[in-house]
Amino acid sequence: MPDDLPILFDFPSGPEAAVIEGQHGERELPVVPLINTVLFPHMLTPLFVGRERSVAAVEAAMEHDRTILVIAQREQDADDVGPNELFGVGVEAHIQRVLKMPDGSTSIVVQGRRRMRVIDFVQERPMLRARVVPIYGEEDKSIAIEAMMRAVLSLFERVVKLSRTLPDDSYIMAMNVDEPGWLADLVASTLPLDVSRRQEILETIDPEERLRRLSIMLTQELDVLELESRIHTQVQKEVDKSQREFFLREKMKAIQRELGQEDPLQRDLLELREKILISGMPEKVQIKATEELERMEAMSPASPEYSVIRTYIDWLLDLPWTNQTEDTNDLIEAAHTLDRNHYGLPKIKDRILEFMAVRQLAGARLKSPILCFVGPPGVGKTSLGRSIAEALGRHFARISLGGIHDEAEIRGHRRTYIGALPGRIIKTMKDTGTINPVFMLDEIDKLGSDFRGDPASALLEVLDPEQNNAFADHYLDVHYDLSKVMFITTANLLDPIPPALRDRMEVIHLPGYTEEEKLQIAQQFLVPKQLEANGLTRTEEIGLRTELGELDLDLSPQPLAHSVELQFSEAALRQLIRSYTYEAGVRNLEREIGAICRKVARRVAEGRPFPRIVRPALLTKYLGPAHRSHGVAELHDEIGVATGLSWTANGGDTMAIEVSVMEGKGALMLTGQLGEVMRESAQAALSFARANARRLGINERRFDKTDIHIHVPEGAVPKDGPSAGITLAIALISALSSQAVKHDVAMTGEITLRGRVLPVGGIKEKILGAHRAGIRTVILPRDNERDIAEVPGHVKRKLAFVYVDHMDDVIAGALCAPPASEPVLLKRNGKREKPIKIEE
Ligand code: ADP
Repeated sequence: MPDDLPILFDFPSGPEAAVIEGQHGERELPVVPLINTVLFPHMLTPLFVGRERSVAAVEAAMEHDRTILVIAQREQDADDVGPNELFGVGVEAHIQRVLKMPDGSTSIVVQGRRRMRVIDFVQERPMLRARVVPIYGEEDKSIAIEAMMRAVLSLFERVVKLSRTLPDDSYIMAMNVDEPGWLADLVASTLPLDVSRRQEILETIDPEERLRRLSIMLTQELDVLELESRIHTQVQKEVDKSQREFFLREKMKAIQRELGQEDPLQRDLLELREKILISGMPEKVQIKATEELERMEAMSPASPEYSVIRTYIDWLLDLPWTNQTEDTNDLIEAAHTLDRNHYGLPKIKDRILEFMAVRQLAGARLKSPILCFVGPPGVGKTSLGRSIAEALGRHFARISLGGIHDEAEIRGHRRTYIGALPGRIIKTMKDTGTINPVFMLDEIDKLGSDFRGDPASALLEVLDPEQNNAFADHYLDVHYDLSKVMFITTANLLDPIPPALRDRMEVIHLPGYTEEEKLQIAQQFLVPKQLEANGLTRTEEIGLRTELGELDLDLSPQPLAHSVELQFSEAALRQLIRSYTYEAGVRNLEREIGAICRKVARRVAEGRPFPRIVRPALLTKYLGPAHRSHGVAELHDEIGVATGLSWTANGGDTMAIEVSVMEGKGALMLTGQLGEVMRESAQAALSFARANARRLGINERRFDKTDIHIHVPEGAVPKDGPSAGITLAIALISALSSQAVKHDVAMTGEITLRGRVLPVGGIKEKILGAHRAGIRTVILPRDNERDIAEVPGHVKRKLAFVYVDHMDDVIAGALCAPPASEPVLLKRNGKREKPIKIEE
């Protein structure tokens, strides 16, 4: 079967066999159809002959004059074709050779002679036979033809140069043909044209026209080739570059091998693999790390992805997976450690020691409790955490959750984000380097939540002993076990902590210190710490001198640091606590002590005389006048002023509530930044007073003609809460009934419309505040009686407590006896108004 074979070039050779031709050269020839190719006159080509009719045609030709007609078939995939499937013009060809192939098939080598037009088919079986006439074009060479030939040649030359399939000598061959038609045939048979276009050239008889059509085809071919060549060059450049790099890298490796050096990159990857193996990672993590490593090995180190994966693997390697510290089991030593760092706080210290004892008995089965230290700033929550870690022999880590809104801060970003990193939990675990640190989460009450997710829910997972053995960080993408970690959280207030979180924790309150406790803490801990921090070594115990107001006279001129000994007199410390700091904790106290130490240190360093003992007089000199003062009890019994007790993050304090009544229309005015709850308390107090006016000695009719103004001083500080209820009521009743309030009585408690007094919080702190202010009697809701147990004895002894169930009891305890004179109301214009008669 004739197939798509390269056409060889040759010039006609050998004598043309004698042919019997009829009129106009008409003759009959056996036909061999061509698939996928067109034979041109003069061309020499091998053809496979496979189809039955073709074989018969060749055999017939061989018996006669070796001449056949080859015609291209119209459909290239048609198999046994008949006359209708063949083009009308073919080429008379001479069989030069017949080759029997080893597999029994036949191949022939034919040479085209001249174009033939088919007149008709005279036979179809066993072979196709056609009646044909030769077609001749004019072969004279006009100047136009000459020009056309040159144009075709030059186009062809460019095509040959650009083409990667055409042999260079095909151009030389073309150059040596000087017949225009022949040149066109030669070029057409050389170009990679499809059958229809070749046939078009074959059927174009006029040589000039044939050249013209060919030149169009050549131009098209040239365009395609040029485009191809451009693309090829670009691709080649890219390939060249990476091949060059590859080659150079291989060469470098070879040189390094020769020099006995290893490829650093290869060594690095090997080291990583080893590290992964010995890291102690759980199996799943190890598989993940190895997979990533394999991805990395297949990459160029210059690609950005490479370093992303590298960072990721480094994270996995840097995290502690098995490394843990041995817990101390010595309870006595642990108790010492706790005492060494903190004064007082017996409940908390006991709780820690209990935990250690239980753990010794229960072993690893014991899940670590999650403690939550709640208390105002500076009461030692953080330092306690540190000291628990020390007592247990564990590492300590701490992060602050204050203001975190974004869940990603806790859990990290997925690695698909550019610059993604793990969240704070995992970062901190990496920094501690062990799987069982004491991990403090500060300010859990300040956690925010917004559209970027809810960090509290991520924390839930961290703090839930059932879940935290498989903590999911987005970046890490593998689970991390946090179950060995001992978590401690801290908060200033309990209320803002989401209830779900609160439930998981064991809340321990650190309410703040009394003045006595602060003094002890200062003497035993803060002063030594600050002296040490400022290079002022202490040589004897302080706190021995208690003289008040003693002047600092012993100024020493000795500048030598090592002989410096600075002491703080007790009086000075008390003064610092009372007048320079206003806080429940001791943070400011520590800061002020530090400030004094620095001033002294400077004097020492400058060689100036410096004090040996810090006494009260020195405080003003070094720290300026006292900057804070707490509430002080009123000096006189007054009408319309009652002393309440407040409790803030800074501890407890007294709070004066003032009520003034004036002629008006029954309006109630509240000032002093009172919150919603406090406003409602005021309304309730007023309603109570109104409902019980008669009993309370208030003229009922006045309510409609009186404006009431309630003010709580220190208007810059927002105040809220229900516990001012009874104080508001007393101030109101006092103002409306003109009965004075006892100046040394302070009170706290919520009021109901019916006058019942409900318990409130912060009793210990409030009582400490009352004591500090010089109050003598404290009125408390009866249900708060049990809270008194927490108040230190020396404070309790100085105060009288009145426990109340109803407003009547409060009135009895707080108001002075009914006035002797008539009550007085002020008019708006300030003039005195006719007194209202109090009804009995
Ligand atoms: P918080 O975390 O509650 O705000 P810190 O732990 O930062 O408070 O404590 C502030 C300072 O007060 C620390 O230097 C701490 O050592 C000290 N301190 C607080 N309470 C005590 C105490 N009971 N005994 C000794 N030092 C204390």
